[in-house]
Amino acid sequence: MSDGFGTIQVQGGTPHGGAQNTVAVPIYQTTAYEFDSLQDAADIFALRRTGNLYSRSSNPTQIVFEERVAALEGGVAAVAVASGQAAVAIALLALAKGGEHIVAARQLYGGTVDLLQDTFADWGIAVTFVDQDDPDAWRDAVRPETRALFAESVTNPTARVLDVQQVADIAHAAGVPLVIDNTVATPVLQRPGAHGADIVVHSATKYIGGHGTSMGGVIVDIGSFDFGAEPQRWPQLTEPYRRIGDITLWERFGPTGTALSTLIRTKYIHDLGPSLSPFNSFQLLQGLETLDLRIAKHAANALVVAEALAAHPAVAVVHHPGLAGNAWAENARRYLPRGVPAVFAFDLVSTGDAEADRTRVHAVVDALRVIKLVANIGDARSLVAHPASMTHSHLTALQCAEAGITPTTIRLSIGLEDAGDLIADLVQALDAI
Ligand code: PLP
Repeated sequence: MSDGFGTIQVQGGTPHGGAQNTVAVPIYQTTAYEFDSLQDAADIFALRRTGNLYSRSSNPTQIVFEERVAALEGGVAAVAVASGQAAVAIALLALAKGGEHIVAARQLYGGTVDLLQDTFADWGIAVTFVDQDDPDAWRDAVRPETRALFAESVTNPTARVLDVQQVADIAHAAGVPLVIDNTVATPVLQRPGAHGADIVVHSATKYIGGHGTSMGGVIVDIGSFDFGAEPQRWPQLTEPYRRIGDITLWERFGPTGTALSTLIRTKYIHDLGPSLSPFNSFQLLQGLETLDLRIAKHAANALVVAEALAAHPAVAVVHHPGLAGNAWAENARRYLPRGVPAVFAFDLVSTGDAEADRTRVHAVVDALRVIKLVANIGDARSLVAHPASMTHSHLTALQCAEAGITPTTIRLSIGLEDAGDLIADLVQALDAI
C-alpha cells in the first residue's frame, strides 16, 4: 500500500536518523565523507556504487529532501540545487546544448526570461517564445534541433493555467520532453507528471520552504520520457560518458530511472557548483512537513481576497482563475481541482495617462501595511510586487503585454494571515486613490 500525500510530506525519503536515532532529519554539516578504503572511493567516483562523495554533488540531508519531493511529485528521482533559477537552468542545460533549441512559453517569470533570452543565447542555445495557450504556436516553433518544451503550470504573476496535457502531447509528437515549472501550483494543487510532463522543476524558495527564509530549487524526473527511443538525439545519455569512460548513462541508470538525475548531478552540479546547503535542505524539509495545510489556507485566503478586489471600483480586472469569467477558469477546474494558487495579480483602472497611472500604482503599493513589498512569492506573509518595475522590468513593453502584464498590474502572493486583515489593508489602499 502506498502512502498518501500527507504521510509522504512528513516522512518521505530514506530515514537518516543515523547513530543518534534522531526522529528529525539531521543537518549533516559536512563538506566531505570518509571512505572505507581507496577501492571504496574509486568505486563511488566511477559510479560503480552509490555513496556519499563530496557535498558539492550531494549531502545526506539534501538526499532526503530530494527523495521526498520526488515522491510528492510522483517522480522517480530528484536533484536539489541552490535556487529555483539553478533548477530551471540546469534542467534545460541537461537537455539542450549549444546549437540546439528550446520552445518556451511567453508568460514565464521574468528571471527565467532573462536566463533564456540572454544567457542561453550567449551559450548558443536558441529559444523561441510562444503564447502558451496557442497549440499551433508550440507546434510551429518546433525544429529538428529542439530538445525541450518549457512552461509554468500556473504562471507568475497572472495565474494563467496551462493546458499541460495539450503541450505534453505536442512535445511527445516532436520527440522531446515537456519541462514544467510547478513552483506556483506545488504538488498539492497539481502534479504535472499526471498530465504528461516529463520533468518538473521548482523554486523551493517559495511554497516548499514556505516561510521566506531559505533559497533552494529542485528538479524532478518523472521517469516518463524514453531517451532511448531516439538515442542519436540524446548523446549525453546514450553515448559513452567520457568522464567515467566505460558506461553510457542510459544503459546503466535508465532501468532505475536515474539516468538524467545522474547526468545532472555528476556533470552540471559537479561542474557548475550550484549546491544546496545542508542547512537549507533541512529548512526545506521542515517546510514540506506542512505543505498541504499551508497551501489550503493560502488558496482559501487568496480566493476571498480576489473576490473582494473584484468588487472594488478602483480595480479593472483580477487575474484569478477561481473567479467566474476568468479565461483560465475552465483549465483551473481541470488542472487545479483542489484549489487555485495564491499568486495572482490585479490591474488598477487606468486613467489613460501613463504618469497618473504610475502615481496611483505607487500610492496603492506604498499604502499597504499588512501586505509587504517584497521581491518574492510563497512566503507565509502576504507580499505585493509591481511586475513592470520589479520582476519583469528587464522585459520590453511588448513582452510584458504578451505576458498579460500592464503598467497597472499589481502582483499579490497571499499569505497565512487573517483574510479580513488582508482585505481591509487592500481596501484602505485602494480607497485612497
Ligand atoms: N520559477 C518561478 C515561477 C519563480 O517565481 C521564481 C522566482 O521568483 C523562480 C523560478 C526562480 O527561483 P529562485 O528565486 O529560487 O531562484
